[in-house]
Amino acid sequence: MMKINEHYTEIGNNYLFAEVAGKVREYRGKHPDKKVISLGIGDITQPIAPAVIDAITRATREMAKAETLRGYAPYEGYDFLVNAILKHDFTDRGIAVEADEIFISDGAKSDTGNIGDILGTDNQVAITDPAYPVYVDTNLMAGRKIELLPCTPANQFVPPFPKKTADVIYLCYPNNPTGTALTKEQLKPWVDYATEHQSLILFDAAYEAFVSQENVPHSIFEIEGARKVAIEFRSFSKTAGFTGLRAGYTVVPKDLLAKTARGETLSLNEMWRRRQSTKFNGTSYIIQRGAEAVYSPEGLAQTGETIAYYMQNAKIIKETLETLSLKCYGGVNAPYIWCQTPGSTTSWEFFDYLLNNAQVVGTPGSGFGASGEGFFRFTAFGNREDTLEAVERIKQRI
Ligand code: PLP
Repeated sequence: MMKINEHYTEIGNNYLFAEVAGKVREYRGKHPDKKVISLGIGDITQPIAPAVIDAITRATREMAKAETLRGYAPYEGYDFLVNAILKHDFTDRGIAVEADEIFISDGAKSDTGNIGDILGTDNQVAITDPAYPVYVDTNLMAGRKIELLPCTPANQFVPPFPKKTADVIYLCYPNNPTGTALTKEQLKPWVDYATEHQSLILFDAAYEAFVSQENVPHSIFEIEGARKVAIEFRSFSKTAGFTGLRAGYTVVPKDLLAKTARGETLSLNEMWRRRQSTKFNGTSYIIQRGAEAVYSPEGLAQTGETIAYYMQNAKIIKETLETLSLKCYGGVNAPYIWCQTPGSTTSWEFFDYLLNNAQVVGTPGSGFGASGEGFFRFTAFGNREDTLEAVERIKQRI
């Protein structure tokens, strides 16, 4: 008889954003005349950079000719993109990473979810709370034991070390959903912890492009010792609007070694290569050409402008909420504002209140974990007009 993965019974029925979307759909169905503004899911609203569109268009045309046609892409990505990433994201910043440590993918969600394939299910896992839901859900699916590390105003959103020694640690900075960041001095003790306990840090840097403060690292590999203890995930989704195009990459240093039960030494870089070549058939050539164009002078200027536009939205949202005496965090090195709900209102009560009274959608903090209760996440990815209208409506209702 077929047996299912019983661990699926341990995760909630609905992915958080699907639940939010369901509620909004229901509201729209009942109130077709009302304009609902979403500051909820972290999806882009601004057009993709012309430099990227041009590159994608050129690459698409190449597919029309036998001489320039491309089929399956290399599992690890095309050299042209790997080299652009290497130069811009690492070498130019003085960060030691090598080309064969970079694996192009279709995004950070897949990679942060799939990385568990090369890790034992008996690992003790530590995950910051609140967190991007993929970390907890994928580890529950695999049956791993999880300790949550509460990140709240009381510890200034700096995660405490786990009580039980962690074999695998998920850190996401700049953080979704709190919008907060760690400085190099705050991240270093985690690298030291992992070194001391032979743990692996899974560092999600999907929001690296939004870092604005000097002392906030763009990559965990800026921290001494990280090459021996960390894997880093990057995404073109928020950096350059690739949420619908799909591209990201993962850095697995060759210094990452692990011992098998029989005492053999294995390289995590080799294991990930083996995993990807077995289960993944590459990101499309067209999209990789688009991602390469992000690093061209025009691409950098255009995507930089869009990021500045979103961060201006963040400023507008944060400043308005603060005038309403709502305590807010984030919004400086990340496009999210993490706002304390008024009084004893729960996250979902605040969601319902804003949807019903202001027709504004945000994301209930409790959906990101127990420590998110009493918080609400606003995203800065809206267009300016909607953002201004949303904050105006909130002003009138609070
Ligand atoms: N990691 C974090 C922290 C995110 O917030 C998101 C998307 O919202 C992702 C990864 C997913 O990125 P991608 O679109 O590259 O799959």
